[in-house]
Amino acid sequence: MEYSTHKTAAFHTLGCKLNFAETSTIARQLTNSGYEKVSFDDKADVYIINTCSVTETADKECRFHVKRAMKANPDGLVIIIGCYAQLKPEEIARMEGVDMVLGATEKFNILSYLDDLEKSHSSGIVHSCEIDEADFFIGSYSIGDRTRAFLKVQDGCDYKCTYCTIPLARGISRSDTIENVIKNAKEIAEKGIKEIVLTGVNIGDYGKGEFGNKKHEHTFLDLISELDQVEGIERIRISSIEPNLLKDESIDLVSKSKSFVPHFHIPLQSGSDELLKKMKRRYLTKLYTDRISKIREVMPDACIGVDVIVGFPGETEEEFLKTYHFLNELPISYLHVFTYSERENTEAAEMDGIVPIADRKKRNKMLRILSEKKKVAFYQTQLGKTLPVLWEHDNKDGLMHGFTENYVRVQKPFDENSVNQIEFVKLDKIENDGTVSVIPAFEEFLAKV
Ligand code: SF4
Repeated sequence: MEYSTHKTAAFHTLGCKLNFAETSTIARQLTNSGYEKVSFDDKADVYIINTCSVTETADKECRFHVKRAMKANPDGLVIIIGCYAQLKPEEIARMEGVDMVLGATEKFNILSYLDDLEKSHSSGIVHSCEIDEADFFIGSYSIGDRTRAFLKVQDGCDYKCTYCTIPLARGISRSDTIENVIKNAKEIAEKGIKEIVLTGVNIGDYGKGEFGNKKHEHTFLDLISELDQVEGIERIRISSIEPNLLKDESIDLVSKSKSFVPHFHIPLQSGSDELLKKMKRRYLTKLYTDRISKIREVMPDACIGVDVIVGFPGETEEEFLKTYHFLNELPISYLHVFTYSERENTEAAEMDGIVPIADRKKRNKMLRILSEKKKVAFYQTQLGKTLPVLWEHDNKDGLMHGFTENYVRVQKPFDENSVNQIEFVKLDKIENDGTVSVIPAFEEFLAKV
């Protein structure tokens, strides 16, 4: 364990890319004010835990990391922020070891609270807010810890999917200005980061918000068109986008773009129209199929990932099999499978047709197996191709990993010189760990430089 002579701060992030982007921004605020960033298991003056409310075990996870912080330094200040902190501030404040809980409007003001904060030996202090007060946008991006940077362009959501607590934790849909996004993107590129992942809660809804007295007048298509013109950004990945908001024009732009990569992640949630209606999703399966066909028409090699929920109320065996068969037929590349769990203050929690936990687990397993099959089938279509790979810095058992533009995970023997470099390689074969081994392809590489 190390100890520094400066004031030190340690961070732990749970949950999504948005949280990672926001933690990085908060970490920069602290380091710019003289704090030194240290590892979470080191002795630090301040521990900041950015929580998530999506997992069923939010409470347990939060407690676990508070204990970790207390073990590393019993006198360190422990501050909790993030979605779970917005939803359950009082519960968290009562956890042993927690000194302060900050809600959605306050999480970027940590510094202003730190000077007066003292180690609490009873309940933590709460600075919370009503979520409708979170109506302003704070731009964020992650940097320094990864090969990719997560750039936050949008926050909150105006949709009311019946299972989701995110609008309660993050508030209304609002966005950054295009100028600011581009400024942040350039800053990231100047720091040598080669890939940017556009991040938000509902990024297809980009463009909502007011800046000063000026109404925001842009769309997601405007955003990606402008970003595509920026020099110096090698790769931009769109994270998850709602199918009803993914327009033909955006798909066409990605297909012709020099920086946007052919990778889409499109939530489906169910392959049953009845369930989509109960979930209050804003599309039916027909629209979803249409979006996948459009992508495949213009980008036959695109990677397409899908989010799906099993065990939603009313999901009988027959409805589940509709989802299974729907996905089995679709030319997609992998699934992210979520098991439905009841959440307080959601419409779905009051619905009839509760699915037994054992069935939820079984369905989850079936879709995970399907996902593996889809991934292998997709990877097989890519074998023999020569593609650019961005190598990461991992070194596990002498191997390093990276991703192609279309999100095939590849491996090769570790080479320090390749870290954070884009290299052309020939995809050779699928290995036991599910990644693809590669052969160097210097000729093609030289032809491109
Ligand atoms: S689109 Fe639906 S699931 Fe996604 S954040 Fe908004 S309400 Fe939640």
